[in-house]
Amino acid sequence: MSDRKDLLLSLMRDLGLGTEVQSLVGGQLRDGAGDAVVLEDPYAQIELARYADCGAALAAAACDAAAEAQKAWAGGYSAAARGDVMQDIARAVQDHHETLARLEALVAGKPVRDCRVEVAKVAEMFRYYAGWADKLHGEVIPVPSGHLNYTLREPLGVVFQITPWNAPIFTAGWQIAPAIATGNGVVIKPSELTPLTTVALVKIAEDAGLPKGLVNVLCGLGPTTGQAAIEHDAVRKVIFVGSPETGRRVAVAAAQSLKPAVLELGGKSANIVFGDANLKHAALGAQAAIFSGAGQSCVAGSRLLVHQSVHAELTDMIAAGMDGIRLGDPLDEATEVGPISNGRQFAHVTGMIRGARDEGGIVRTRDTTPDTGYFVPPTLLSGLGNHAAAAQTEIFGPVATAIAFADEEEAIAIANDTMFGLAGAVWTSDVGCAHRVSSAVRAGTFWINSYKAIHVSSPFGGSLNSGFGRSSGSDALMEYTSPKSVWLDSGKTPKIAFGYVS
Ligand code: NAD
Repeated sequence: MSDRKDLLLSLMRDLGLGTEVQSLVGGQLRDGAGDAVVLEDPYAQIELARYADCGAALAAAACDAAAEAQKAWAGGYSAAARGDVMQDIARAVQDHHETLARLEALVAGKPVRDCRVEVAKVAEMFRYYAGWADKLHGEVIPVPSGHLNYTLREPLGVVFQITPWNAPIFTAGWQIAPAIATGNGVVIKPSELTPLTTVALVKIAEDAGLPKGLVNVLCGLGPTTGQAAIEHDAVRKVIFVGSPETGRRVAVAAAQSLKPAVLELGGKSANIVFGDANLKHAALGAQAAIFSGAGQSCVAGSRLLVHQSVHAELTDMIAAGMDGIRLGDPLDEATEVGPISNGRQFAHVTGMIRGARDEGGIVRTRDTTPDTGYFVPPTLLSGLGNHAAAAQTEIFGPVATAIAFADEEEAIAIANDTMFGLAGAVWTSDVGCAHRVSSAVRAGTFWINSYKAIHVSSPFGGSLNSGFGRSSGSDALMEYTSPKSVWLDSGKTPKIAFGYVS
């Protein structure tokens, strides 16, 4: 298995990262100073690398570097010039497409073909927001006082982004691109378990012309490195992508220094199939919704609500399909589903399946998995109500809980009977039903006869335990800017010595 360590080193060298896992601060690769963090290969289950937690001092240096670079980025570059740099970054990401995809596959355990799609989407994100850079402007407001009143959309300054391990480079691009398009500086802390592709992305961006220090990457732990950056005076907003439990802690820490936060958290999305749906499509869609990415997706269709008239038929189709899904080495071209990304998550997913069995649930799965790796085979649970732990807790693994419903009203009630509000879907041939259900289900994203379609041009986010604020699309531009209202005395304005003109 030492060939996998060699592969890691060779990919890192190709991406200009040297041979150590290091933070990228002020354009320099820097060692941390804290506790040891281990990167484990989730397929081979060997230690790939070990590094020191970034720590508070380096986190502070990153915030200072971002603050300094941001002044020149917002003040010294025209908006169009910022867009040009971002176009160059998009091209550079494409040039490193395969290396980035293989590095992601190795460390995060995602099938390399999925990683290729995600890296391509990162290039697309930089292109998309490059186009916005010189198209974001304020408005003139016809105030009654006679002043010329106009608004400017200003960058916030430095933003601190915290990201999880399930889609590391995708999430990094998703947050960095709108932040810099709007003139901000960035400090980003990827998950300590999957930091390398984020460091590589920013290194590639710097080589393509991004000013050094404008985006800084901290390789380290949340309670030490993350907390230090949240508290730093230069940070004006925190953007957190991760679990509801950590999101609550991050929001509290941000609030203590009166900083706003965007929270992109988990889900327990309802994938609703009516009796009149095209069942073949719905079965394939249901499999993609929960088994792709080994279910480690915030929008995974983890609650499968099926009309009672087709419940047996559809669950049989899905169970039959589970046998054909190719599990294997994430670096293998044929692999459709890789292992769970880390040991802690594997323990959580397998514990939830054991709990479902103990609660009397019927567990349909398959016996064979590869010899090594944190594999959980595609699993379908049934015989449990919507209040079972498996139907209410985010499992974040390839596990769907199937629940039968009698009519549209009951389907909507079950779909909304959760503390999450991230995503959902409906499968039906009745367009009226599709519209009624999509408007009645509480979700930031909803699909009709489809699942998991996501694009950088469309807004994304949730409510309740799925968080608040929006990422992607033009909505993200609002999250990364604040409006300033400017009042100019036009000469026609009534003059008064004190007070205000109403
Ligand atoms: P997590 O909450 O454990 O960790 C997320 C990040 O928070 C990591 O970088 C971690 O180091 C950091 N962190 C931990 N403690 C911290 C602290 N005290 N202060 C600051 N930072 C801290 O989540 P995870 O296990 O990495 O990821 C899985 C979760 O992410 C799931 O719940 C999933 O649904 C969610 N997720 C949400 C979206 C979305 O857009 N809604 C996208 C992907 C993943």
